[in-house]
Amino acid sequence: MNTSITHDSPGNLFVVAAPSGAGKSSLVKALLELDAKLAVSVSHTTRAPRGQEQDGREYWFVSEADFRAKIAHDDFLEWAQVHGNLYGTSKAAIEARLAHGEDVVLEIDYQGALQVKKLFPAATLIFILPPSWDELRLRLQRRGDTQADVIETRMANARTEVAQARHFDFVVVNALFETALFDLKAIVHAQRLKYAAQLRHRSAVFQALNLC
Ligand code: 5GP
Repeated sequence: MNTSITHDSPGNLFVVAAPSGAGKSSLVKALLELDAKLAVSVSHTTRAPRGQEQDGREYWFVSEADFRAKIAHDDFLEWAQVHGNLYGTSKAAIEARLAHGEDVVLEIDYQGALQVKKLFPAATLIFILPPSWDELRLRLQRRGDTQADVIETRMANARTEVAQARHFDFVVVNALFETALFDLKAIVHAQRLKYAAQLRHRSAVFQALNLC
């Protein structure tokens, strides 16, 4: 898969993955509310909309044929099959934003996250862990709309997903929401202060100081 995202893009790319029920969506949503410089990427998916979900807001809902056509056109930065449906991140939207110096968050599964890291090693991979298996099961049960057999499938998938956390740059344990949010903010902040990120984002200052 080719991509034109370059290591010189002034924006930072953050990738957040977690097993279902770990609190990833709530954490990313809260992070975005606190940080106006961060934008989330809206993925394409072949799954049907749930509840109040709207096309273009939570996802771009597309047919499998359309999704496969996008794969054939190399439109995705990454894509994967998750829980029986296809999900993918559109390359064009990400490239434009990073090139304009925006920071982008991808809320995707671990397979997609690892593909992104291969293509774009400067991406920051963050894995959200639940504090325990028991707590994860409780959170899945508390969602209400999830049936017992679905919970067991999610728990089994979670074991595979959690085993991939070792390949990520950062780990946040979501025992207490506010603490996990603080950790997430700290990661984003620290990442923006890395030498390479500052060099990309504040090139005028570096030039004025004869650092490049
Ligand atoms: P859900 O259908 O519950 O919204 O999402 C199911 C899983 O698919 C979640 O782990 C979610 O993060 C992941 N996902 C959403 N969008 C993408 C994407 O563009 N690429 C990949 N690889 N996973 C995605």
